Amino acid sequence: MRLDKLLADAGYGSRKEVKKLLKSGVVSINQKVNKDPKTQVDPSAEEVIVAGEVVHYQSEVYLMLNKPKGVISATEDSMHRTVIDLIDEKWASYSVFPVGRLDKDTEGLLLLTTDGSFSHRLMSPRRHVSKIYQAKIDGMVTDEDIEAFRVGVELDDGYVTKPAVLTILESNEISNIELTITEGKFHQVKRMFKARGKTVLALKRRAIGKLDLDESLAPGEYRELTEEELALFE
Ligand code: URA
Repeated sequence: MRLDKLLADAGYGSRKEVKKLLKSGVVSINQKVNKDPKTQVDPSAEEVIVAGEVVHYQSEVYLMLNKPKGVISATEDSMHRTVIDLIDEKWASYSVFPVGRLDKDTEGLLLLTTDGSFSHRLMSPRRHVSKIYQAKIDGMVTDEDIEAFRVGVELDDGYVTKPAVLTILESNEISNIELTITEGKFHQVKRMFKARGKTVLALKRRAIGKLDLDESLAPGEYRELTEEELALFE
């Protein structure tokens, strides 16, 4: 790949800034100063150093974000803050994008990646990757709700949901539940409860497939997935 692209991708600034950096003579490839942005470089075989610092180039990025309420799961929005606004410049230059969506008022596990095929694998309806949500529901949740979700409920557009597992953690004036679904229709959890005449007051995604949200991440915080976590999706 081109040297200027590698440096821009690795977070050393825009192509223009990188060009300036190169001109200043602080970049070397295998210990030879290189000032030419067009130089072809193989980051897996050649050592690129910028001002004494070895450049760690990653071809793909995988981040786990604890999405806070109030931000949009999109890369751009003219009105609202997006999940990308939460990510350091270092990663933003990799052009990460969210894998699927959480509503603005939903929090919890959201993956961000540069890897289109990874995203596709997770989102493909044929793969039935499970998602576990925790929710606060207005009113009592009952065994009839469990059974209805097990069989499938009809949403407002006539779609009948695939079998889902509802666990009641606390049934009261405000109930706490956990719901596992294997599909991702628009506003699915809220619409499933609406089909039962109930309202979701708060919603959080706690897991995707076998990957649990790292609860040490405060809302708005994120980290890279480990190799082991990534392997959960192979
Ligand atoms: N279901 C919803 O209703 N909202 C979300 O954000 C995710 C699932």
